[in-house]
Amino acid sequence: MSYAEARYHRISVPEEPPVERIQGFDEVLRAYSKEQAIMEASRCLQCALPFCVEACPITQDCRGYIGLVASGDFDAAARLTLRENPLSTTLCKVCYHYCEDACIMKHKGIPIAIRHLKRAAMELGNSQLEYVPSAPRNQRVAVVGAGPAGLMAAWELGLRGYGVTVFEKMPVAGGQAEAIPQYRMPNNEVVADLERFKNLDVTFVYGEKAGANLTPHTLMAEGYRAVYLAVGASKPSSPNIPGESLPGVIYALDFLLDVNQGKIAKLGNRIVVVGGGDVAIDSVRSAVRLSPGAHVSMVYRRTKAEAPCGPEEIHEAEPEGVEFHWLLSPVKILGVDRIEGMVFQKMELAPPDASGRRAVVPIPNAFVTLECDTVIVAIGQTADLDGFPADLQLKIGSKGWPEGSHPDTMTAVEGVFASGGKSVVHAMAAGTRAAESIDAYLRKKDGLPPIPRPDPFGGSVPPPKTPEGYSTPVWRA
Ligand SMILES: Cc1cc2nc3c(=O)[nH]c(=O)nc-3n(C[C@H](O)[C@H](O)[C@H](O)COP(=O)(O)OP(=O)(O)OC[C@H]3O[C@@H](n4cnc5c(N)ncnc54)[C@H](O)[C@@H]3O)c2cc1C
Ligand code: SF4
Ligand code: SF4
Repeated sequence: MSYAEARYHRISVPEEPPVERIQGFDEVLRAYSKEQAIMEASRCLQCALPFCVEACPITQDCRGYIGLVASGDFDAAARLTLRENPLSTTLCKVCYHYCEDACIMKHKGIPIAIRHLKRAAMELGNSQLEYVPSAPRNQRVAVVGAGPAGLMAAWELGLRGYGVTVFEKMPVAGGQAEAIPQYRMPNNEVVADLERFKNLDVTFVYGEKAGANLTPHTLMAEGYRAVYLAVGASKPSSPNIPGESLPGVIYALDFLLDVNQGKIAKLGNRIVVVGGGDVAIDSVRSAVRLSPGAHVSMVYRRTKAEAPCGPEEIHEAEPEGVEFHWLLSPVKILGVDRIEGMVFQKMELAPPDASGRRAVVPIPNAFVTLECDTVIVAIGQTADLDGFPADLQLKIGSKGWPEGSHPDTMTAVEGVFASGGKSVVHAMAAGTRAAESIDAYLRKKDGLPPIPRPDPFGGSVPPPKTPEGYSTPVWRA
């Protein structure tokens, strides 16, 4: 193969074979070796207008770290990655790599393996760095929720010298990312990321649920100057069908959290997962691993092409023995004191509407029954806002997390902000926006202009602010 041809062939990511990987929860994708990482990074064109950076919600300078990996300088690559991405250890395993969809090489061959190169930087370079705060501001901000949005906001505010207290109802940080199965994220990656926060004035209070007794108003009365609600969407949505309270019906988020905590050893013999998103595919692949030999299927009301989980995950699940049913919508769960089956309505695609989109519509009188003893419901989540005051006027979007009603994410109550995101990196971007708004709000009260993010490693010059759109030139550590 010529050098020019080699440019269009991605270095394969080492992968555990399907027959072996379904024996347990061992990680499926393995890291590149140093040589493999350098070869893959060398395919990058170092574009003057890097679409990859533009597509990253936190505008990570991936072009920059890829260039450093290509030159063999893994320490500098890790440092550059961590400069704008405090959850790099987590994201190098689980980011949905929006950058790769935009990479120019996708149009010429296969995109650069940008996420795997982030992993190479983090694991082959020195990522044991510590963040350094600016001079203390002597003002405290409360963050409710230790998911990616809350953690990113805590980092941004901590770097700017604020004291931050993060209230989290669970015993650990990470939010929904804690439910990601170990075959995708095996070691406590969020904990590793939080190690680098230790010099920042960020305090975590676990097992503390905000709501009736701990409201934004009581927090402000206690002296917090602003509150950021980053509570995500932690309550499962219900399909509202007969039979959903039968024993054996499980909600996916609880199921995955329990599996990760070793609380579930085995499921039934015929397992149906209802849903087509990432949570559904994680559930179905976990079910395969928990119940060897069981019949495990995933049922989605739309087509394979429209499944939100995406082709990559379906491609990995198929050889693991998962059976997929498309265009079936749940109607009822059968059984009296245990599940005996589940009835679905057959669906079909309607003709395209004015926008070209094809809705799915029921086929009259067309039903199918799937025999099963376990049903895992993975049709989405919504926010758990029990006890939150109505005067916040929180907006709940289609994906379930609450947002403030003002463009800067402030709610109807002054000083209280709220947002979240549809993926780890989107939630982090939301955390950045909220922290910038909080900083601008608090500094304005003191007659000061907002400041850009300081150098996270204590340098006197703030790193270049990546503008909306295209990135700044390659940065060298
Ligand atoms: C199974 C699963 C797999 C996923 N896989 C991926 C993936 O591979 N890649 C990816 O990018 N994204 C993935 N996601 C999505 C991603 O995890 C979420 O988009 C992201 O975590 C949202 O972040 P957030 O901070 O907005 O909210 P959350 O992560 O939901 O965090 C909110 C936090 O607030 C806490 N909280 C809620 N209410 C209260 C309260 N009243 N008081 C105190 N604390 C409260 C919650 O316990 C939680 O810790 C996955 C999600 C799930 C469920
Ligand atoms: S954080 Fe995600 S989208 Fe951004 S550069 Fe890394 S892999 Fe790509
Ligand atoms: S778009 Fe692709 S080829 Fe261009 S700099 Fe980004 S990763 Fe490299």
